[in-house]
Amino acid sequence: MTPPRTLAILSYHKIGVGPGGWDTWYYVSEAIFEKQLAWLRDDGWQAIDCAAFLRGLREPESLPKRGLLLTFDDGYRTMRTVAMPILQRFAMPAIVFVPTAFIGGMNTFDAGNEPDEPIAGWDDLRALEQGGVSVQSHAVSHPAFSKLTPARMEEELCASKLALESGLGKPVDVFAFPYGDGGVNPEQTTELLRKTGYAAACLYGGGPVTLPASDPYRLTRLAMGPDTDLAAALGDV
Ligand SMILES: [Zn+2]
Repeated sequence: MTPPRTLAILSYHKIGVGPGGWDTWYYVSEAIFEKQLAWLRDDGWQAIDCAAFLRGLREPESLPKRGLLLTFDDGYRTMRTVAMPILQRFAMPAIVFVPTAFIGGMNTFDAGNEPDEPIAGWDDLRALEQGGVSVQSHAVSHPAFSKLTPARMEEELCASKLALESGLGKPVDVFAFPYGDGGVNPEQTTELLRKTGYAAACLYGGGPVTLPASDPYRLTRLAMGPDTDLAAALGDV
């Protein structure tokens, strides 16, 4: 019998320090990020890339016993300048979820709640792709799905996928719900994700996933901040 496969999907936002002297829980300093990655490596978690993740959803036995999928929401420019070099040093691939209306702009969807920060431009996204960080969709306008009509949801799913696929010349198969908001009607949301060609979608928060996943369109992710206790969340797996 094949042993069960566990996939820990970690959800980060920003690596480094905030601009202009303030930051929030969504910032993880470089030193703490490195410590977290070292703990994961030493505890036997093997980072997989987006292709291995997609294959693993269909064929769990293709994954390591303890799989690790590192994800980053919102696509800040610091993904390229701060996070990617560290990921490369640890030889760990990752996924970044980008809201396409903000590519090359600022994080105005977070105005007032988070420091103003530039979002990666197309050159940054291409460099991330080449550097082992797969660029996937975080909708167009970073909306809360529970506030959208089905038609608007479909538009957000479809247009963001198209923009990334034509801008980067590669398939986009994974979606991360902005604010982890999977909509008021999960079945309807899943149907729209299928219809628009996605293979998986991620919520925000929750524990590791046991494969085969009960619902690949509502995958839980560990919310990562500077004080997240990985040993408590994963130590017993
Ligand atoms: Zn987001």
